[in-house]
Amino acid sequence: MNRIVIENCAVATVDAHDTAYASGHVVVAGNRIESVGSGRAPEDLEDVVRRVDGTGHLVTPGLVNTHHHFYQWLTRGLAQDCKLFDWLVALYPVWARIDERMVHAAARGSLAMMVRGGVTTAMDHHYVFPRGAGDLLGAEIRAAHEMGVRFTAARGSMDLGASDGGLPPDFAVETTEDALAATEQAIDTHHDGSFDAMLQIAVAPCSPFSVSTELLREAAALARRKGVRLHTHGSETVEEEKFCHERFGIGPTDYFKSTGWLGEDVWMAHCVHMNDADIRAFARTGTGVAHCPSSNARLAAGIARVPDMLAEGLPVGLGVDGTASNESGELHTELRNALLINRLGPHREKALTTRQALRLATYGGAHVLGRQDQIGSLEAGKLADLVLWKLDGLGHSSIEDPVAALVLGAAAPVTLSLVGGRPVVESGRLLTADEEEIARDARSEARRLARIAAQS
Ligand code: ZN
Repeated sequence: MNRIVIENCAVATVDAHDTAYASGHVVVAGNRIESVGSGRAPEDLEDVVRRVDGTGHLVTPGLVNTHHHFYQWLTRGLAQDCKLFDWLVALYPVWARIDERMVHAAARGSLAMMVRGGVTTAMDHHYVFPRGAGDLLGAEIRAAHEMGVRFTAARGSMDLGASDGGLPPDFAVETTEDALAATEQAIDTHHDGSFDAMLQIAVAPCSPFSVSTELLREAAALARRKGVRLHTHGSETVEEEKFCHERFGIGPTDYFKSTGWLGEDVWMAHCVHMNDADIRAFARTGTGVAHCPSSNARLAAGIARVPDMLAEGLPVGLGVDGTASNESGELHTELRNALLINRLGPHREKALTTRQALRLATYGGAHVLGRQDQIGSLEAGKLADLVLWKLDGLGHSSIEDPVAALVLGAAAPVTLSLVGGRPVVESGRLLTADEEEIARDARSEARRLARIAAQS
């Protein structure tokens, strides 16, 4: 079996004890991690095809993104000064004009940006399916496959149009039956439940204000029948809370509980407006959270109570969220933003440490995707998804603590990124795609979308 040896670098394993080595090594055999330890790797290893001198670098588990909307790559920079509901109402009519070619271009842009910055497991929540638009889920699955990144595709849906009291316009929603049938078909066609899986499907109705109670209930039943995970947006804004109280007489978490949506097979994006009882309900049931600090700031949603969630033992990962509400599209900068934004909350300087921020983006993300036994930490037997960060350049060389350099410093360049032992980034460049070509294609598809939306 071919081996890759990385040595002479700092190592942050993000295992259960946060084991770290000031100078250590990682040995990759095939698609798995064979060993991790201090000092250099043994000299007598056989079948070593590559020995990487990691001097001046830190190796960490690959970053895991837990919430995104790839298609929004084509509508960045719009509705710049809105809160969530106004932003959605401004953008729904544009999003309703997307087609398969646009989604493929947008997915490639979103993925390239993240992978270049150390993401080895991507996730997308796609919930806009205009009639006749082509195979949109297939387009993003193809893009992730081409990029060589591990991928969870959450088949989203909306069936509660404005005429039924929902937020999206009627032309942007599917019928309940169509949404469920297409979701089941996506699972049957694409989901891989194996240890090494590069592609998994989750069931993901969009939010309480765009989905009927029936769809939520039936989606939960479908996911459990098929053994796949459940994902949605929850408790994002005060407006959503108000919507739930007015329509159902209870808050979002109680509403989710009443529809079968709390459980260790569920993770929700945002969870900003949660009281103590809500957090305890998530903890009791093992429900996970995708924390999206930049998006929550961009849309003035508020600060999620991440320190309280971690104290109660909730699984918490990080999310870029769609790039119409986080134009940078990067996950590695979210480590810093998670730490900074949470320190503006009531826990102040005790809110999050640099190690906790790194854990959110790696093991925490793997946990909310249900893949913590396979990825998320550097341990023998796990899949070889890892990143070698360059920390001896201008941006970081005077910071002694490598984890502090990675989390608090400028976005660190990626010298090498492996997904299942396969290099996807070398010296800051994508190996699996042409960035310039992706940028040109994304611009032309964004302009095509704007043109079509303006005509309708
Ligand atoms: Zn979102």
